[in-house]
Amino acid sequence: MASLLKRIGLNDEITMRKLDWGVADGKVALRLGQGSESDIEKLGGKFPESREGLRRLFQDLRRFRGEIMDRSDFLAPPLPLNLEEYREDFLRHPISSRWQNAGFQAMLDDYLPNGGLKNLLANLSGLMGGSPHSFPAYEGAMVLSSLFLDGIVYPAGHLSNFSRKMAELVKQSGGDFVTSCGAEEVLFKGQGARTLPIGVRLSDGSQVRSNVVILNVDPRRALTGLIAPSLLGINFVKSMEKFTPSCSALVLHLLFEDDLRLPDRVFLFPPKPRRVRTGDSYVQIDSITLTKEKRDEGRKGCVLLARINVPHSCYHIFENEVTGKDLGAELSAVVKEEIGNVFPSTKKAVREFVTLPTQFAKLTSNNQGSAFGFAPLIGQWYYKRFGPRLPIPNTYLVGAWSRYGGGVEGAALSGIVAARELCGERAYSSPPITAEISPEEENGEEPAVRRGIFQRRKLRKAALKDDED
Ligand SMILES: Cc1cc2nc3c(=O)[nH]c(=O)nc-3n(C[C@H](O)[C@H](O)[C@H](O)COP(=O)(O)OP(=O)(O)OC[C@H]3O[C@@H](n4cnc5c(N)ncnc54)[C@H](O)[C@@H]3O)c2cc1C
Repeated sequence: MASLLKRIGLNDEITMRKLDWGVADGKVALRLGQGSESDIEKLGGKFPESREGLRRLFQDLRRFRGEIMDRSDFLAPPLPLNLEEYREDFLRHPISSRWQNAGFQAMLDDYLPNGGLKNLLANLSGLMGGSPHSFPAYEGAMVLSSLFLDGIVYPAGHLSNFSRKMAELVKQSGGDFVTSCGAEEVLFKGQGARTLPIGVRLSDGSQVRSNVVILNVDPRRALTGLIAPSLLGINFVKSMEKFTPSCSALVLHLLFEDDLRLPDRVFLFPPKPRRVRTGDSYVQIDSITLTKEKRDEGRKGCVLLARINVPHSCYHIFENEVTGKDLGAELSAVVKEEIGNVFPSTKKAVREFVTLPTQFAKLTSNNQGSAFGFAPLIGQWYYKRFGPRLPIPNTYLVGAWSRYGGGVEGAALSGIVAARELCGERAYSSPPITAEISPEEENGEEPAVRRGIFQRRKLRKAALKDDED
């Protein structure tokens, strides 16, 4: 994010602030984020049986972070372009390779004894909508190294200010925003391999013409309207249908007249996971993410947002207004009770309201209110995901549903990759390609995207074949 701000010249305008954070599980409550040495000391003090394992874990996390930083261009994704290049790289990146195919729980098993600290760290996967056994170890390592080694950094003026500044830049550069008017159809010309986008049709019937279309939407929904499945090809559609969407969320907002003596972010794990029945199924509350924010400018006090994950299998209950409201109220009561047990001061809220999964579905247009795109599962991680390029030339998928997506950082990264390709830049830190592109290979693509990843793969293969010959 720092590289992005620098690149677009907003690094002086958007200042970042480091947040303090903590973990609590009913038995321990620790304020962390004051440097890895101090954090290790605190955790080791509370969990002496894990002290040695913790040292080893942090040693490997530092090496892992070193591997991620081992690239000259921080706007490029940390992992190579494709699996082949990744395998070639494994000697340089042994820790990333080891954690690439493992689950987060299995990774922690290598370091920590059962119980206590291991459960606490494993539950952090809930932060990104995962559960410890199926959450990719690589992603878990990213979460741990972000929290403990880099710290949580957030725009000082909130994300809305960040977005506003970015929007101003787009407008200054001649761009425009059309709001309150969804895109309903991507328009194409040509047939078969020669299909190319020519713009989008909006819900008011007007059209926006463009030779490049970038989708930042739930692709499963896109296929039922924006793009005809036949254009993307049967293989693409079939493999997408196999993917599981991530959970949705329920957020309880609590308003306070005074500031709370709590860290900016708290990851709270109830001592016993609470289950709320939903007829044939249940929502299990095993992690609550607490976000403390200041109230609007000039107003005293603070807002506390408490988020729990809601499995997509329970989404249908919220679709009925009455049952949805009842379940929302029941879940909120449990969340409030759990927070109140650990932090009694939170019982003094002066106002409260709740955001339900159906409201997240409306805000984002994601089916079932999915909060993190496709679910973060080992079996559908990274190289198995689509994007940013789609099978149709000049058509992209960015955001949470794209290859790097899930959280905000990955969603932004996929946008950066697409933008750089369109600017004719090298979007990945793979070795440069020097061979020329023949006119036959151009496939009628726009000049700016002509030297994109598909062409480079083709060129690399051709170069290898030449070498062999
Ligand atoms: C409650 C909650 C908590 C979260 N916490 C975290 C966290 O702590 N850390 C983290 O990294 N991530 C978190 N996430 C996930 C993160 O918010 C998403 O990964 C990120 O916002 C994805 O960005 P995006 O641009 O892909 O999608 P979005 O932010 O959903 O933006 C997509 C936009 O496209 C618009 N749109 C959709 N369809 C159309 C159409 N047809 N025409 C025009 N516009 C359309 C939508 O209205 C929306 O504004 C959280 C998500 C939720 C819901």
